[in-house]
Amino acid sequence: MNIAAGRKALVTGGASGIGLEVARQLAAEGAAVALLDLDEEKLAAAAADVGAGTVTVRADVGSPGQVRAAVEGAVDRLGGLDTLVICAGVIHVKPLAEVTEADWDHTLDVNLKGAFLCCQAAESALRASRRGRIVTISSDAGRRGVPHLLAYSASKFGLVGLTESLAAELAPSVTVNTVCPVGVPTTGMGQQLLSWKTEHTGQDADRVLSGIANAIPMARNGTASDVANAVLYFVSEAASFITGVSLDVDGGSRLNTLPGAAE
Ligand code: NAP
Repeated sequence: MNIAAGRKALVTGGASGIGLEVARQLAAEGAAVALLDLDEEKLAAAAADVGAGTVTVRADVGSPGQVRAAVEGAVDRLGGLDTLVICAGVIHVKPLAEVTEADWDHTLDVNLKGAFLCCQAAESALRASRRGRIVTISSDAGRRGVPHLLAYSASKFGLVGLTESLAAELAPSVTVNTVCPVGVPTTGMGQQLLSWKTEHTGQDADRVLSGIANAIPMARNGTASDVANAVLYFVSEAASFITGVSLDVDGGSRLNTLPGAAE
């Protein structure tokens, strides 16, 4: 039995990276999928990739009016909604002295207010389904602070708080969980971070990536598929009693390791 069979899912940030991979896996597991993102052309290409019948809705998640219209459009075209996956996100990499008010507001508007607005717009449809699922994508930067990622880290810690509070408020109709991935270098945001790291360290991309892999107990970088697998678990019936959880998808990055103990 496909684990998302019969589900009606909306994925924000679904035109790229982790959101696109989540949409692919949801569709492959039997869900009808709607993608929400900023750019019409990217949305059309992503819908063709995810498969026939994929719905697209364009919206800036920081705009209450656009979010309401997009969620209503998705609910109409899917014939209801029982799954909301919040992947839309942005990042600005700068030291404290260089962070502008616009950087701060953009990051918080998309990553945190955008998540709140999408959950609020989807609440009645998710509750009505009586088997609702919200999965947000936080970050390892939502579990521990990171230099030069001040607004991003604050937004991702905020997302953990939003997720836990909503989990308490929306039970028992809707479960609400978050996935906290370590860096996924293949996505739009992952490439942006990789460019910053190559510039900052003077190392080429391969060297940076192998340095990161060496610092992760599971000895590799994260993938969009690793994150989507965790999202699909939260969506599945197997996770129907799990809510308010933050799941690290980080290859054990938070663990202490013994020097020289790796194979
Ligand atoms: P990505 O490929 O850049 O995907 C993010 C998507 O969100 C893009 O399609 C982007 O559109 C869209 N978006 C940005 N602003 C938006 C807005 N105002 N309204 C609607 N959509 C908007 O990056 P990703 O890595 O897959 O990121 C997905 C999520 O994973 C993010 O929340 C990110 O914080 C989180 N995450 C990523 C990593 C990583 O290393 N990649 C690690 C931990 C967590 P445009 O491209 O057109 O701007």
